[in-house]
Amino acid sequence: MTKTATTCAYCGVGCGVIADTGENAAARHVAISGDKVHPANHGRLCVKGTMLGDTVGLEGRLTAPFIGNRRANWDEATRFVAKTFADTIAEHGPDSVAFYVSGQLLTEDYYVANKLMKGFIGSGNIDTNSRLCMASAVAAHNRAFGEDFVPVTYDDLDEADLIVLVGSNTAWCHPVVWQRIEKARKDRGTKIVVIDPRRTETAAEADLHVAIAHDGDIPLFRALLAEMKGRGEVDEGFVAQHCNVPDGFWHGLNGALGEDLPEAFAALADMVAAHPRMVTVFSQGANQSVRGTDKGNAIINLHLAMGRIGKAGAGPFSMTGQPNAMGGREVGGLASTLTCHLGFSEDEVSAVAEFWQAPATCSTPGLKAVDMFRAVHDGRIKAIWIMATNPAVSMPDAGFVREALEKCDFVVVSDCMADTDTARLAHVRLPALGWGEKDGTVTNSERMVSRQRAFLPAAGEARADWKIIADVAAAMGFGDAFGWQSVASVFREYTAMTLLSKQRRLQLDLTDKAQLRDDEYDAMEPFRWGGADPLLETGFSFPDRRARLIDVAPLAAVETDPAFPLRLNTGRYRDQWHTMTRTGLSARLVRHRSEPLVEIHPADAESFGITDGGLARISTPRGSTVLRAKVTDGQARGTIFSPMHWTDLLSSGGRSNRLTAPHVDPVSGQPGFKDCGAAIEAV
Ligand code: SF4
Repeated sequence: MTKTATTCAYCGVGCGVIADTGENAAARHVAISGDKVHPANHGRLCVKGTMLGDTVGLEGRLTAPFIGNRRANWDEATRFVAKTFADTIAEHGPDSVAFYVSGQLLTEDYYVANKLMKGFIGSGNIDTNSRLCMASAVAAHNRAFGEDFVPVTYDDLDEADLIVLVGSNTAWCHPVVWQRIEKARKDRGTKIVVIDPRRTETAAEADLHVAIAHDGDIPLFRALLAEMKGRGEVDEGFVAQHCNVPDGFWHGLNGALGEDLPEAFAALADMVAAHPRMVTVFSQGANQSVRGTDKGNAIINLHLAMGRIGKAGAGPFSMTGQPNAMGGREVGGLASTLTCHLGFSEDEVSAVAEFWQAPATCSTPGLKAVDMFRAVHDGRIKAIWIMATNPAVSMPDAGFVREALEKCDFVVVSDCMADTDTARLAHVRLPALGWGEKDGTVTNSERMVSRQRAFLPAAGEARADWKIIADVAAAMGFGDAFGWQSVASVFREYTAMTLLSKQRRLQLDLTDKAQLRDDEYDAMEPFRWGGADPLLETGFSFPDRRARLIDVAPLAAVETDPAFPLRLNTGRYRDQWHTMTRTGLSARLVRHRSEPLVEIHPADAESFGITDGGLARISTPRGSTVLRAKVTDGQARGTIFSPMHWTDLLSSGGRSNRLTAPHVDPVSGQPGFKDCGAAIEAV
């Protein structure tokens, strides 16, 4: 068989892909096409997915373990990592070590890493780069529904009459979802609204672009709710039956309509009032804010109050950035959950400890990403293992993170690539399987679990992440609990564990998978847990089965130093992914944007002496970088934008996240990447 059904390596849309290796898989010539029977994409792919075959060569791969610059064998490297972690824990306690993991890991990898850290090392210090992507949406779901549940599926997009995209350049960042939205527009006349301070490529195609002020989402959604209440559009019966409303909630909206609202507010309100079948998609523009959780709740409040949830074509929809952010949420990749959507109550901890036979199971959350690297910097964390991610580029205030890793006693990096900005700071590098070589499951934005399948031989000595972690665990003396012989057996253990979950929908749809034989796991078709729209049948997850409307207040600006008079916003380009370790290998993808640009409004360009195509230095309190300028009226006055992808290895000075601020949302711990004070000058 030369064709393998698998799942795309990139975004949270989770498209099914057919990879055709021809007769000789070892040649690594792979033809890619969309999987016509995969329910997430029905054969569609975007350009990144289509070019996956360009990125599966051996160029730049880490093919053997290294201790420093010395090639080591697996046995030696595994024992060295295990002993250093064990010695550190023995001397300084379990919280002196940490794992920083990734939405690129498969669910089984995540499960094993989480079990080792939270169950056997006994610390909550495992967090994921998904903290940077959707932690605010998780917190908003928990506050509103009593559980982290996404109450919408892609089918709802097909059935909506109005789709409101908040802080999402969907056409570039989730292109196949955008294709689906465009189809709904063609087939049923669905209206599209984009709420974004920038006139993005998506906004340019929308029926209405609501150009809010930087971080203007909360005032806008409060005003929309006040307006709907005033027009009699709130579904009082739904609210009485399904929601708890805090005292003074409606009174607290007085004045919301007097805020400085965008020009398009009245048109938006008319569209919202006229279309009960409304889905609001929110993404990083909402989540990556120091009030990201409140932004999510402001959106959810509107849906709850109007009874637009749990029904076909209606609901608030958090789109995740990464291919397996959702799988990480399920198995406890976030420091703020234990595992399987469980928290840290006495009952939950003891149930998990019993299931794992792990008396050391931690009883408190660990450090979230930004705090984790602060603890590395100040020496509280002395050993860190970074898996499948590049925090020296992707974290906010990335210069600080780089400094932290430079100072750290022991840094392990397991990755498929040999040379990344983070790998250069590692004491030990462990080669991991890449896409096309590894096997396991991922969960996409709509809770669809799909198999990612291997169709290529391993690169050199690379191993599956779950196996690397399990071997280190065994070398630390935990072999009995980490002795799986196959990825299917890890999956069976995880799905059996969902029986403990208070996330009832997860439990319902995953527990029976614990009986799958290896061959059934291999052949497993994509399935969506939580069904289609079960919220109103089973109720919300608070003990009274009612949802919560949440008081949210407008946001005060951070970093208002007049020396940095502009607001810096960051985001993605269409054809690049994260820090370009993979997409940077494809000449066809690089062609779309060959360098990072700083976008600036013409009036600001004139006042700062910036010319289109000229060089400009951007500075923030954390540093400066020089980028080529793009002068465009798609950028709001007083703001600038730069992409997040480039690294120092690819473009000297292109590392935007050396500039971004490490301020976080106090509820979710997600950084406010999209707003910090900045200055600009011509070079
Ligand atoms: Fe891959 Fe996302 Fe493109 Fe689908 S939309 S092909 S998952 S990058």
